Amino acid sequence: MPDTLLQPEERVLSTLNADGTRRWLKPRLSPGRFWHKRRAIAYLLIIVFTALPYIMINGKPAILLDIINRRFTFFGKTLFATDTLLLALFMMIVFVTVFMLTAIFGRVWCGWGCPQTVYLEFVFRPIERLFMGKPGTRSKKTVPGWRKVAMYVVYLLIAAFLAHTFLSYFVGIENLRKWILGSPLDHPVAFIVMAFVTAMMLFDFGFFREQLCIVACPYGRMQSVMLDRASLIVGYDAKRGEPRGKAKRPKKSEANDVPLDVIADQRGDCIDCTMCVQTCPTGIDIRDGLQMECVHCTQCMDACDAIMDKIGRPRGLIRYSSQEALDTGRSRVLRPRIIVYPVILLILVTAFGIVLSTKSLADVTLLRVNQTELFHTMPDGAIANDARVSITNRSDQPVLYSVSVVEPAGISVEYVEGNTPIAPEENRSIPVVFVAPPEVFTATTQQIVVRVVGDDGYETRRKFPMLGPYWKADSP
Ligand code: SF4
Ligand code: SF4
Repeated sequence: MPDTLLQPEERVLSTLNADGTRRWLKPRLSPGRFWHKRRAIAYLLIIVFTALPYIMINGKPAILLDIINRRFTFFGKTLFATDTLLLALFMMIVFVTVFMLTAIFGRVWCGWGCPQTVYLEFVFRPIERLFMGKPGTRSKKTVPGWRKVAMYVVYLLIAAFLAHTFLSYFVGIENLRKWILGSPLDHPVAFIVMAFVTAMMLFDFGFFREQLCIVACPYGRMQSVMLDRASLIVGYDAKRGEPRGKAKRPKKSEANDVPLDVIADQRGDCIDCTMCVQTCPTGIDIRDGLQMECVHCTQCMDACDAIMDKIGRPRGLIRYSSQEALDTGRSRVLRPRIIVYPVILLILVTAFGIVLSTKSLADVTLLRVNQTELFHTMPDGAIANDARVSITNRSDQPVLYSVSVVEPAGISVEYVEGNTPIAPEENRSIPVVFVAPPEVFTATTQQIVVRVVGDDGYETRRKFPMLGPYWKADSP
């Protein structure tokens, strides 16, 4: 690197070389007890992630985030765009839950449950090891080119599968089936979306990898505000490990008499083998303390436990702990945020439950149609106002809704495009015309009361300001 370049005072990013190029990580696998548990959970999660859009509850997918039609289904319940309060409460519940779990368990989600970690560590990296050999043993020269090509072909197939799974959460499995079975020429937009998502998956798992956790994920960036000194972290016990260094080997003459502990020259338990660094998928040295890049993958714990087993020292030099426990030897479970978060969560969940249980069978909104003429006069002198009745059918069956005016008397309703039943969860805007005899108007605006009745027993009333020509009588 040229000397003229300004040198950073400290490491900027674990995946960045001093000259700004990418530091490619090739983490060694440390298949210890935590890794085996993570692998079992990862396989289970892969099944869950794949199956969720196919599981039907009350005839609806377990999760469907239909952004285009603004409908969000969670385990048999559908929220609509009009459910502003419910959606706001739901989002607050999600955020408070994330804050609470992070305050208690740290980044356990990142290491054990996040799809990025699950698919990278337990699908893509095993495939890489299969084709390219294990990190630390492989040499680029000895790996034939065809293996790399074959690896990327397998990556591509898996990325396409993941893209289909990912999109099924947003478009539903029925649409997905049509996309798969139909020709791309029949649905070019869908094909482009699918190709784009596949390319993004390939880019992420084949190239971007740990960068997503380190520089792109907002959850990772917010760790510093969500954790406190008593939160669970993967930590290195510096008191036990330092001063680090290689243990001296006993000379042959003294080997039988002097215990290894004494020969270790008062050093700590860390023998500076760097296995914890070599195995870290985000390229950090956990012995430097808690870092934002740490995703709780526990690989350094497994690597160090294996070393401790070899040198006959107790496991847990790197372990699940908290900053407070590592510094003082004591750890607090109860602390203000552990009480405040559950209280807020309880209030939010209660409010969500009450609002959800009191929701009616339909949402009705009455809107004036924007036209240059606020009203028009019919050939017989009657006054007509154009309006739209927006109805969302929240029930589980098709419902025919009829619109009438109950106050004042004498006002009729005409359906511009007829009136047919509305399917469950469908939102439709029905154009109608309110026709009133001119004598109804005692002022420019006449409030009318509109009744909407569904054949499922639903009924609601809405006020609507009908505009008329009365002002003409007063005008000069
Ligand atoms: S694996 Fe354990 S012993 Fe080896 S360098 Fe890391 S902390 Fe030290
Ligand atoms: S420091 Fe340890 S737990 Fe954290 S990301 Fe690296 S290997 Fe995983």
